[in-house]
Parts: sequence; structure tokens; C-alpha cells
Amino acid sequence: MTPPILAKLKKLGIETPFDLLLHLPLRYVDETRITAIRDLSVGNPALVEGVIIHAEIHHRPRKAMICQLQDQRGSRLYLRLLHFYPSQVAQLRPGVRVRAHGEPRPGFFGLEMVHPQIRVVRENEPLSDTLTPVYPTTTGLTQKTLRKLLQLALSKSDLSESLPMGLSDKLSLPSFEASIRLLHNPPPDVLQSALESRLHPAWRRLAFDELLAQQISMRLHHDRRRAQDAPPLHGTGRLTARLLRTLPFRLTPAQRRVIDEISRDLAQPHPMQRLLQGDVGSGKTIVAALAALQAVESGWQVAIMAPTEILAEQHYLKFSGWLEPLGLRVVWLSGGQSRREREAAMQACADGSAPVVVGTHALFQDKVVFARLGLAVIDEQHRFGVHQRLALRMKGIQPHQLMMSATPIPRTLAMSYYADLDVSVIDALPPGRTPVVTKLVSDARRAEVIAHVRAACAEGRQVYWVCPLVEESEALQLQTAIDTHALLAAELPGISVGLVHGRMKPAEKQAVMQAFSSGALQLLVATTVIEVGVDVPNASLMVIEHAERFGLSQLHQLRGRVGRGAKQSVCILLYQNPLSQTARQRLKIIYENNDGFAVARADLQLRGPGEFLGVRQSGIPLLKIADLERDADLLEMAREVAIQMLREAPTLAEKHMRRWLARAEKYATV
Ligand code: ADP
Ligand code: MG
Repeated sequence: MTPPILAKLKKLGIETPFDLLLHLPLRYVDETRITAIRDLSVGNPALVEGVIIHAEIHHRPRKAMICQLQDQRGSRLYLRLLHFYPSQVAQLRPGVRVRAHGEPRPGFFGLEMVHPQIRVVRENEPLSDTLTPVYPTTTGLTQKTLRKLLQLALSKSDLSESLPMGLSDKLSLPSFEASIRLLHNPPPDVLQSALESRLHPAWRRLAFDELLAQQISMRLHHDRRRAQDAPPLHGTGRLTARLLRTLPFRLTPAQRRVIDEISRDLAQPHPMQRLLQGDVGSGKTIVAALAALQAVESGWQVAIMAPTEILAEQHYLKFSGWLEPLGLRVVWLSGGQSRREREAAMQACADGSAPVVVGTHALFQDKVVFARLGLAVIDEQHRFGVHQRLALRMKGIQPHQLMMSATPIPRTLAMSYYADLDVSVIDALPPGRTPVVTKLVSDARRAEVIAHVRAACAEGRQVYWVCPLVEESEALQLQTAIDTHALLAAELPGISVGLVHGRMKPAEKQAVMQAFSSGALQLLVATTVIEVGVDVPNASLMVIEHAERFGLSQLHQLRGRVGRGAKQSVCILLYQNPLSQTARQRLKIIYENNDGFAVARADLQLRGPGEFLGVRQSGIPLLKIADLERDADLLEMAREVAIQMLREAPTLAEKHMRRWLARAEKYATV
């Protein structure tokens, strides 16, 4: 193959012969039979054959080449070419026999085909005996070239079966070879609609194979990590019992259940890889603290990581508040620390004198060495994406890992992209919460909203005002926050208004958050820095400006900052008309759903798994053939078959995985 063709193939995501085989047609053209011109009907594509009896070039109303075709029975049809080459003008002359495939439509002179596919033929030239595939392509790569390449790939590739004998029959799916051949060269009696809707058994077989490869790879990954050594953290129960006694609340049954799951894992001599899911406000932090204590009781260190400084700091404050009364030193690693403080903190990690260390994910990647790291807690794991999750490894012995996410992962995604993790779910909020009431308010009614904020503050409630997202420019976003703060401070005399944004020094941010937490500030103007994890229970009103610019999970996370106390909380989404179609959909979803799972499911549907997981750029192979919604039943089967194959036919499992994930090796070996 020539380099230019290779480059074009690469653009289509085709880098190996196998990729080429999986480059499946978008649709098909039926060139297996000829339709008589008089049997043509408007809107139904067909192949006709005839002799050109007239050809001319028109210049008005548009430049066009018009040929008149007459078939065997003497009926005539116009073919109209809007773009054409001199070579075609030379070729399509009266007396020449052609086949044309196109969609008939009523034209000025009677029935015509605009832009048919035209091919010069001999008399009695045999017809194709399969449907002609039409592939997704890119400029400069013709269907003809693609078809040729595919026929070549079909003749040269290993299409042997990679499922155990008899399995495809048992699943009522055709063989791999039959499926691949059928999709590239379907016999004329195959239902085109079944092929194009991807519900044909051949499509399903390939989707199954792809899901199976993913399941095998994830399970291997899971098993390999399970085979590594980790310190068994049995704990003594001494510190956890003391912490539980000091809490102002009792754990919910859901919290107790996940704590048991985690506790059992920690006692194993293999690294835990557990994802703790729970909607915003479900109380994941205390679960993490109890896990941390089990590690500390066993004489090991714990690292707590968060995606942002603000969140790391909240954790630091919370963990210090809980653990220092127990006589434990909680150390904090922050970007804003002086070099001396930072070095002292690092030293405490390295010599093991700090049992619990809190910081941002970024800081931990920066050569922090632990004497005895037994457990890493990674909050808002979703923010790091799958990629970083895989990259996160520690030196020496493997620590146990507890990942926490407030972005619920819909079941099908959890079963596929997160299949290498064990999952615990906190499925109920602590009691006494009143669901947040969400209101959609047009920006035209801003003055009313400000009056509402004034009234809320007068009642002693605290309020967040979230500034609009300005995607194009961070500077502009910052300016907007500063302006909004000035404006609100002017409009709300007597009310103490604070401002927090991403460009502030950590110490400044900390001071503002502290002032808001303590109630010294009544209204906090903020950018999305407050999006994750911030916890001020007395705040019960949130206004989000230009809510239409935010993504769904962002809105859900932001809204989760209120509704944390017993008071009825309200979230006002201010939007600016006119709304785009998707913005309208998003606002409707967030308005109608308080439950994070429902929001996540809708979000997945709206954005697709790549965007949802944030893995588009990360190199994690996304599914090419299978669709998690459409093929959910296959995913269930693939999971069972993967377990069975790894147990009973590991070599075959390996072969199957290699065939499908050749380029994704790193996925399985991390
Ligand atoms: P998230 O799961 O979003 O991280 P947090 O751990 O921040 O939630 O908890 C939210 C709030 O709920 C915190 O103020 C926390 O102290 C409180 N909380 C946690 N568990 C309970 C419980 N069982 N009963 C009452 N309040 C709880
Ligand atoms: Mg949290």
C-alpha cells in the first residue's frame, strides 16, 4: 500500500489489517439485479441498464451534464450529473451501454436520477452476486479503493474461530468468518434494513466478540492485580470505634454495608481495587475515614487524594477534625505551601511519621515517597478519567486503592469500562435530607432572583452564586466572577459577600471557604471551583448563572452543594434565551431528576460513552462495533463467557483478546 493511502486509512482509524476488516459498511447498494425503467418508483434506489441515446451539457440553471438512457424495452430515463470530469464527457457518448444506480425522482423532463453511480458495461456483463458495500470514508479515498482493499484483506486474513467449539451455536450467533464475510459481501436476499440497523446476527456476533475481548482483558487486568502483594490490613477496631463514638450522626445501613465490603478487602494480602459510588452528599468521606483508620490501626500510612486544592483542603480539615482528637497526625501537601512546610510534609511521608497525608492528585504524582503506604484513597475518581486511574501506581508494594466517585456510572458502562474494579454503592442518602427543589428561571427575571437571595440571607440562610462558565477564556471567566461579585455586593448592602475562584492562592481560597463555613460570609460568589466535594451544610440556596452552558454532571455536582442540611434547599438555574436544542434537553433533565443515576444515564445517552468517561483523548480503546445500549444483552453474555473461557480455555481467551485488542495491549498490561 502506498503511504498516502496508509495515511488516509489512519485517518479512518485503520492501522492494521484487522482494523480494515472491522471497517464495516454504513449501508449497501443493490446492484444484483436490474430494474426496468418503467418499473422505477420515486424514492426507491435501483440499478438500470441501457444505451445512451443523447448527451449534452447545459449551462443553465446550473452547469449539468444530462444523458438520456434507453433500456431494452424502449423506456427512457434522464441522468443528471452536476459535477463531472472531462473523462466522463468523453466516455458517456451516444451508443455507449451503461449501468446506473441511483434514486429516481421527478425531474423537469420526467423521471430522472441525479448523480447516479454510472459504469460503462459490455452487453450481458454479469451482475454482482452480493450487495455492494458503501463504507465510511474520507476525502481522496474512493469506495472503489476501499472495496478492493477489503477484498484483499478478506482473502489474506486469518478468520479462524476464536470462540470455544460450539459456543457460537449455543449463543445462536454465526461464526466469525461467516459474519465478517457476510457484512462485507452480503448475499442479495439479506435484509438490508437488518444490516443497516446493526441488528443482523452477523453484526451481533462481531459486537459480542468485541465485548468479550474487553471483558477478558479487564478480567485479566483485575486478576493480575489481585495476584500482586499488598499488606493485609486487619485493623484492631480500636480507632474506628472511637471515631464512631464522636460522630454527631449514626452511619446509615448503606454506609455500614460498604464499610464491611471495604474492610474485608483491606484484610486481604492483595491490593484492593474498589470503586465507591454514591451520589453527592451520600456520605462517602466518613467511609474513607474509617477505611483509613483500619490501615492506620494496622501500622500503615494512608494517602488521600483529591482533584482540586479546594477539595483536598476540605478533606484535610475534615480528616484533621476527626483524627487529631484520636491522637493522629494528619499532614497536608499543598501547592501553596512554603518550601519548608512542603519539605517537612514530604519528610513525614518518607519517614512514616505521618499516618495520614492529604493532597491533590498532582502533588502525589510529584515524587512523594512513603515509608509504608498501605492505602490510597482517590476522591472524585471520575475526574481523573480511566486513563489516570490506570497510570496510578505506587512504588514497591502495592497499596490498596479506594476510589470514590459521585458521578454514578450507569450499569452497562460499569460492566464494561470499569469491569476490572470491584464496586460498592451507597444507594441511600443520610436521613433528614430534603430533596433540593430545582427552579428554571429566565435571566430576564434576575432582579427577582436577587430579591430572593436578599430574603434568604435575612432568614440566616447561606447562598452560593455560581458564575457562568466562559469556555473560550479563563481570563474572561475570572473577570465575570469579579464583576458579578462587585455587582451583587452593590445590590445587596448589609450582606457579606465573598468571592472564590480558581486563580486565587490556596491560602486565600482557604480563608474564604473558612469564612463561608463559619457563617461569617452569607453569600459566596464562586466559579466552578466549588463543583466537587465542598461541604457547607448551612448553605441552602444556590443560583447558577447561565446554567445552559454547563454539562449535566457539572450541574448535578454543583446542585449537590446544597441540600446537605435539614432545611429545604433550592437551586435556581438562571438561563439565557434562546436555548439550543441540547441545552434545553440538559436543563429539562436536571430539572426533572434529583437522582444522580438518572442524570448520569441521560447524560450517557446525550453524549455517548467516550465523552462521558472523558477517555476520548486518553488512548483507551472505545468500543468500535458494540453499542452498550443496543447490545446490553450481549454484554451480559460476554461477561459470563469471559469468566468461563479464562477458566477453561485460557489460550483461546488470549487469542481472542489479541485479535481484538492488538493495539490496546497497554490496557491489559498496566
Ligand atoms: P459525599 O458523598 O458527597 O462526599 P460527604 O461525605 O461530604 O458526601 O457527606 C455529606 C454530609 O453528610 C457531610 O456533612 C457529612 O458529615 C454528612 N453525613 C455523612 N454520613 C451521615 C450520616 N450517616 N448521617 C447524617 N449525616 C451524614
Ligand atoms: Mg465528597
